[in-house]
Amino acid sequence: MRIVALAGGIGGARFLRGLKDVTGPGDEITVIGNTGDDIHLFGLKVCPDLDTLMYTLGGGIHEEQGWGRADETWSIKGEMKAYGVGPEWFGLGDKDFATHIVRTQMLAAGYPLSAVTEALCERWQPGVRLLPMSDDRVETHVRITDESGTRAVHFQEYWVRLHAAVDAEAIIPVGADTAKPAPGVLEAIAAADVILLPPSNPVVSIGTVLAVPGIRQAVGSAAAPVVGLSPIIGGSPVRGMADKVLQAVGVDTTAEAVALHYGRKGAVRSASNEGGGGRRAGLLDGWLVDTADAASVAAVEAAGIPCRAVPLLMSDPEATAAMARAALDLAEQVRA
Ligand code: GDP
Ligand code: CA
Repeated sequence: MRIVALAGGIGGARFLRGLKDVTGPGDEITVIGNTGDDIHLFGLKVCPDLDTLMYTLGGGIHEEQGWGRADETWSIKGEMKAYGVGPEWFGLGDKDFATHIVRTQMLAAGYPLSAVTEALCERWQPGVRLLPMSDDRVETHVRITDESGTRAVHFQEYWVRLHAAVDAEAIIPVGADTAKPAPGVLEAIAAADVILLPPSNPVVSIGTVLAVPGIRQAVGSAAAPVVGLSPIIGGSPVRGMADKVLQAVGVDTTAEAVALHYGRKGAVRSASNEGGGGRRAGLLDGWLVDTADAASVAAVEAAGIPCRAVPLLMSDPEATAAMARAALDLAEQVRA
């Protein structure tokens, strides 16, 4: 079975670990990772979501934190601080720095990000084919208004420095309009037997991947069933501040609203305020909500999207594997 998943960082990575547990050596998983969170720091190219995917699936992740390396040390950060060189708000440990140095060096030598990612994965052996959504630079910016007035800040500044404490007025994937899908992305979607939308952030993770011209269209017209899992349980994100960015695109923080935001595959709607313009292809052939949201199943199905309520908390490997199994089962049901 050829499985394609679009993914952000922690929600995507943990789900994919469960997916690997329920698939076999004959199955092929291609992950299309969000690069809209990428940022240049200290002259280095940092790709937080690709690294979270790579470290989680390759066994190097700091488990509790969900980002960065296990058994990390912080000498470089201390030295930078001693020089008065920031930013201090972004955590880059010594081991993590090495990844960014290798990446930046290869990019400077002329390799595209997709080739660099493949090279980094030779060390980590994540057990999936990890593709960046694009080799072109895309950076998610967030429009906010605070004491300094109305301005756009980098997504990482909004998320990590400001902890999304001010309202996001707009989410702008800068550069996405002219970005091209990375080599292999559209081919993988077209050849897939199943396409999964893990419980990643629908706006700044999966939404950004879909903002690369061609990707939404490819998923929306794929022969394979597309099944998504809700990152929202009981009206709140399980982790993080997804409610702030959902609000910015006019979507309620509920499992049902996120399903309708993705839309039923085959449906075409006018674009919302997400950028891109024009018409948007719906994506979903199936949707999983948590058992706490069982009451929303009927409304999602009324919108033409087959929906099941199953436990969606990735509390341990078994629970996560069961979620992946449920997603593949629903894909089989809608295919039939
Ligand atoms: P990020 O790039 O590191 O923020 O990670 P993602 O975008 O891949 O995932 C973030 C989303 O994962 C958040 O909106 C969370 O609500 C969701 N999430 C985290 N843990 C769980 C879980 O155990 N179950 C579900 N259903 N969602 C989760
Ligand atoms: Ca992210």
